[in-house]
Amino acid sequence: MEINQKQKIIILGSTGSIGQQTLNVCRRLDFEVVGLSCFNNIELLYEQIKEFNPQKVAVANLNLAVKLAERIKNVPQIKTEILYGDQGNIELAKSACDTIVVAIIGFAALKPLLAAIEAKHTIALANKETIVSTGKYVLEQAEKHGAKIYPVDSEPSAIWQCIAGKKQVNEEINNVWLTASGGPFRTYSKEQFDSITVEDALNHPVWSMGQKITIDSASMMNKGLELIEISRLFNLAGSQIKVIIHPQSIIHSMVEYIDGSVIAQMSMPDMELPIQYALTYDMRLPMPDKPKINFAELGQLSFEAPDLERFPALRLAYEAQAEDGAMPAVLNAANEIAVQAFVDKKISFVEISTMVESTMQKFRHHPLYRSILLDDILAADQWAREYTELLITQGR
Ligand code: NDP
Ligand code: MG
Repeated sequence: MEINQKQKIIILGSTGSIGQQTLNVCRRLDFEVVGLSCFNNIELLYEQIKEFNPQKVAVANLNLAVKLAERIKNVPQIKTEILYGDQGNIELAKSACDTIVVAIIGFAALKPLLAAIEAKHTIALANKETIVSTGKYVLEQAEKHGAKIYPVDSEPSAIWQCIAGKKQVNEEINNVWLTASGGPFRTYSKEQFDSITVEDALNHPVWSMGQKITIDSASMMNKGLELIEISRLFNLAGSQIKVIIHPQSIIHSMVEYIDGSVIAQMSMPDMELPIQYALTYDMRLPMPDKPKINFAELGQLSFEAPDLERFPALRLAYEAQAEDGAMPAVLNAANEIAVQAFVDKKISFVEISTMVESTMQKFRHHPLYRSILLDDILAADQWAREYTELLITQGR
């Protein structure tokens, strides 16, 4: 990239955890923010508009989009155009920019992501649910349209950084080590899992993130989604992805080559680094305001094997990865619904995985089970959402 020209950035989901950290990166690098979007949080979006003066913003919630339009109508110095509803996010995704950051949470990011691909954009992709559910299709479309997808999630970014510059990457990789902090319940006994509250699950020991991914981290479904994400992005078999608990979260993942050499990417845990790397690839720019690793102070890095019995979500993700077809979409959709039900205090923490497993089990007898067609995957996603909702209302 040519860093001497001011980069134009669009951020879909700018009011979220990744969105706000992306804005920090833009402040540091003095990038021009040309587009922003949110779902509901027009208060924060309004503050962002005042600071960055983007050409366009999109608000997915129609009523709130109208409210925001009324508010800025009376502010003469704001010239920002407002785009309305889901369609607004899709339209924004097609607008001109150097990089678009896709930081919308969940499967809702799919249509804007596909629009960005069709516009041949360079995409910094934080959202993992879309790659998990429809990864092959999304990556094929990116290839077809010549859109570049750069990972923002810290573990895929780590692998990307470990293989930087390598051409024959697949032939040379033995496996990757996907690191996990282990979350807040790493040391809990199986009995303690029964009394986990929403507040306990939202209290992550290392990372400060959006609500859904924090719950996913506590159940280790986040690692499960990442193992599918990584298998898709780097064309790896499930057996080549080894999850390892590393509580300090200094190593963000490792690549083991066929000669036994292991390359690790390390940094203090801070999402701004992978975000900045994706926005400036293939350059590295300073982050003077950020603490660096002091190995002497750290003293030691530790590792332990994950326990698939206490964290069944990880086992379910390995199963979905191996089964492929529409199963990863079903895993993801069931999980999105179950996590929301847990947050709404309708089900217990343990039941998140139980619901996902029951939905997957039912789907094995569904005619769409093995399909890889996009429409079938979308239908499977919808089926899984409805089936999981049914399980929740029936209290099973
Ligand atoms: P948040 O919940 O903090 O933010 C989500 C963003 O998406 C908000 O701006 C939200 O708007 C917007 N949004 C939600 N639903 C819609 C919709 N239907 N249409 C348009 N916009 C919508 O999530 P995170 O920032 O934590 O995560 C974003 C993505 O990045 C996820 O896929 C996550 O897995 C991934 N990720 C996150 C990491 C992190 O550290 N947070 C690390 C690695 C990956 P509003 O604020 O108005 O609700
Ligand atoms: Mg991650």
